[in-house]
Amino acid sequence: MRVTVIGAGIVGGAIAFHLARRGGDVTLIDSDEPGMGASSHSFAWINAFGKEPRHYNELNRRSLDCWDRFARLLDADIGLRWGGHLTWASDCEGGEALKAQVAKLQRWGYAARLLDESEMARLEPGLRPGRVAAAAISDNDGHVLPTLAARACAERVAEMGGRVMANSAVTGLDSSGGRISSVLVGDECVECDAVVVAAGVATTEIAGWAGVYVPQQESPGVVVRTEAMPPTLKSVAALYCPPLEDGQPEVHVRQGADGVLMIGEGSQESLAQDDSQAHADELVARAARYLPDLAGARAVPVPVGYRPMPEDELPVLGYAAAAPNVYIALMHSGITLAPLVGELAAMEILDGARVDTLEPYRPERFA
Ligand SMILES: Cc1cc2nc3c(=O)[nH]c(=O)nc-3n(C[C@H](O)[C@H](O)[C@H](O)COP(=O)(O)OP(=O)(O)OC[C@H]3O[C@@H](n4cnc5c(N)ncnc54)[C@H](O)[C@@H]3O)c2cc1C
Repeated sequence: MRVTVIGAGIVGGAIAFHLARRGGDVTLIDSDEPGMGASSHSFAWINAFGKEPRHYNELNRRSLDCWDRFARLLDADIGLRWGGHLTWASDCEGGEALKAQVAKLQRWGYAARLLDESEMARLEPGLRPGRVAAAAISDNDGHVLPTLAARACAERVAEMGGRVMANSAVTGLDSSGGRISSVLVGDECVECDAVVVAAGVATTEIAGWAGVYVPQQESPGVVVRTEAMPPTLKSVAALYCPPLEDGQPEVHVRQGADGVLMIGEGSQESLAQDDSQAHADELVARAARYLPDLAGARAVPVPVGYRPMPEDELPVLGYAAAAPNVYIALMHSGITLAPLVGELAAMEILDGARVDTLEPYRPERFA
């Protein structure tokens, strides 16, 4: 089966990789280099901590459990690190909310638990948390360097005989007999039996060419970086620190395998547009109140990144009724979800299966 995958981010890359492993004849196309879209802007926390409703939490958790195997199969250094996600609340109200969140996650079987200040200090000796009303860790969470992972997917696809077309924008789709017969890349027509649209924020436009409606919200986000630093976080993968002052968002921090610290504010979905040096400096300074080793670190602003964000914030996955050989793969939390989505999408595309787990996420809900 000839499958053309549009978009070589972490999601399209993972789908193309699993298709190629299973014998699909894959062409992977990106208008840029692999992994340079939303995947390159991501905080890349692999987790299901705040993911709701329950079926979506399960989906994220299953994918979290797939990450080690995925990394092994890719057989490349993609900066995958575990260590859990540590968070705490500084006031009673926040503390009660955190305890309730942990209790719910435990009912759902997610590895989250409360911990005390002495364990926090043991895990992260350099952390100065201030007042702690309640603290929690989700032990199994991790992070990855998504651009390296997307690049590794593209390399493995090429090694397995697939075609990778980087710096090649898809400009149109040709159809015949109600099905997409080829994908247009400049003057070239890439003939195919199925098309996967995994083009991140551009998915809405490209799916629209095939008559498929996939609405998105605009969701800008900013994650600033430092230069590579010696180990600042000793054991945990990600820290979510409470606001220092009323009305200020929380900050989240993680240190990649490359030594670079990434710092964002608010939740994983918070909207942010300020990518100035002044704001980057301020975020590093705020993080340094909790991690004094960060004081004086040089902040490197990163331009605003746009999350692929379906209108209802849940993934959009599956063949579209309006274009039966067009498979849509659009989602936030694509870093967490890519390994599982890659496996399940390849099964649906090549075997014609309909995987029950993906039923809540079908494109038809927007039709
Ligand atoms: C600030 C921020 C923080 C985030 N934090 C997290 C997090 O902590 N954990 C988590 O799991 N997720 C997080 N996300 C979300 C996650 O990064 C995305 O869900 C994921 O990267 C989506 O991957 P993708 O492959 O679908 O999209 P992308 O990485 O955007 O890939 C789409 C690709 O399609 C290509 N493309 C577009 N148009 C065309 C065309 N016409 N022709 C050919 N190619 C085209 C683009 O060049 C791009 O490479 C975050 C995102 C942002 C922006």
